Amino acid sequence: MKFKIINITDNPDGNQSILIIYTGGTFGMVYDESGALIPFNFSSVLERIPELKSLGLNLTVISFPEPVDSSNVGSGHWADMAYIIHSNYNQYDGFVILHGTDTMAYSASALSFMLENLNKPVIFTGAQIPIGATRSDARENLITALEMASKTENGKPVINEVCLYFNFVLLRGNRSQKIRSSTFGAFESENYPHLAESGVEIEYFQDRLNEHQSNQTLTYKNKFDPNVVVLKIFPNMTPSLVKGILNIQGLRGVVLESFGSGNTMNFEWFIKLLREAIEKGIIILNVSQCIGGSVLQGKYETSRKLLEIGVLSGGDITTEAALTKMMFLLGNEKSHEVLRSMLTKPLRGEMTI
Ligand code: ASP
Repeated sequence: MKFKIINITDNPDGNQSILIIYTGGTFGMVYDESGALIPFNFSSVLERIPELKSLGLNLTVISFPEPVDSSNVGSGHWADMAYIIHSNYNQYDGFVILHGTDTMAYSASALSFMLENLNKPVIFTGAQIPIGATRSDARENLITALEMASKTENGKPVINEVCLYFNFVLLRGNRSQKIRSSTFGAFESENYPHLAESGVEIEYFQDRLNEHQSNQTLTYKNKFDPNVVVLKIFPNMTPSLVKGILNIQGLRGVVLESFGSGNTMNFEWFIKLLREAIEKGIIILNVSQCIGGSVLQGKYETSRKLLEIGVLSGGDITTEAALTKMMFLLGNEKSHEVLRSMLTKPLRGEMTI
């Protein structure tokens, strides 16, 4: 892929260099003469946000050749983002990824798994209203994300992980979910507290952030196996539907979205279909449909059977993190047993055990 490289500010006194990766989404839209929304040319970002100059940072943008609506983002785009970060890792102090909001939580989760030994900030952000609109949230989101990405203490970055900044809160990327489509506070991380909050001052919560580890080398893996499915349980589900899904050719993993604390119907036909799938080598990971709380298999009679037949517990992981983690592990881990065990333990702080 041919990426466009644009120098935004070259601040001779600035001691921090941040790379912005522009992938697309609502953020970069402006109105044309006819009133239609079209992607804007990133070279003109200073005209839209002149304050970027006064941040005192050296800012460079690498733009995807064509801005992508994040509904069309997949593992190829994740690989591009990880490649850009990896190949520019030593030249920059931090990275800000401008991304559509629709699948931002999936991309932030995917990148968190791909990048191993990350010791610099990678912050996803975007906007609910395009940069070209008067009431846009793009300005604040970008400026604060840049400020956070350049924050150091004793010469070390304060943020050392993949995060998502939106509407005054910094969230762990693989804990975040888009939970609202029509207010500025689009994202939350119900099962993990905010990493930082932006008010009159920006407050960083050190005890929630990953610590900086010196002498580690960033590596990345970019394979994902797409042969997975999210099976959301609902009342009145039919055996033929569940059978059809579990018998999809080539299926390797199922994220089972259960009720409450991990419950499903415990009808004989349902448990039998799940058991047969597990016996065939399909991995089933139980996550909750609730945005807050955790799967506790065995708490109720309706989840005890799941535990017995080998359904794995996803604890308090989000569906976004569970799905990307499963695709990532299926793409990179050969041993079935290691893979099963890695799914039930945190890799990058995505779940609490
Ligand atoms: N559909 C857009 C996207 O996700 C929405 C947004 O950016 O807010 O790319």
